Amino acid sequence: MRIGFGYDVHRFAEGRELWLGGIKIPHHKGLLGHSDADVLIHAICDALLGAAALGDLGTHFPDSDPEYKGIDSKILLQKTCGLITSAGFCIQNIDSTIALQAPKIAPYTQMIRATLSGIMGIAPGQLSVKATTTEKLGFEGREEGISAYAVVLLNSISPG
Ligand SMILES: [Zn+2]
Repeated sequence: MRIGFGYDVHRFAEGRELWLGGIKIPHHKGLLGHSDADVLIHAICDALLGAAALGDLGTHFPDSDPEYKGIDSKILLQKTCGLITSAGFCIQNIDSTIALQAPKIAPYTQMIRATLSGIMGIAPGQLSVKATTTEKLGFEGREEGISAYAVVLLNSISPG
């Protein structure tokens, strides 16, 4: 078994859509990034890559590459899962937390779990998605950005 940890931050910007966990969430501003800036997916990808000691998201999908400009992060998650499988691992479970002041994420967590577990080929029960405010403290509390944390457990799929 291998454990991995991922962390990501994106800043808010006016005129951007808010994508979190593969879902477009209605809000008056969105996150800024080279891709769709889906901070939760990025944290999960980094945790997956970390567990397999395969570097990080930026190593595999550099933000200097025009191929990834504006890319749907669900595609990055799919590609990351391919790397994990090729390295001989499968996902046991994932736990994640999104830290943000607004908007409220609770109404969307089931949809996020269904969407992301489908991409990763796991059951929704293997993916936990939680959200917390930071009690108005820090950059999340000032609604300047959103951070996300993820831990994953991988199993080796090689026989014996
Ligand atoms: Zn990111």
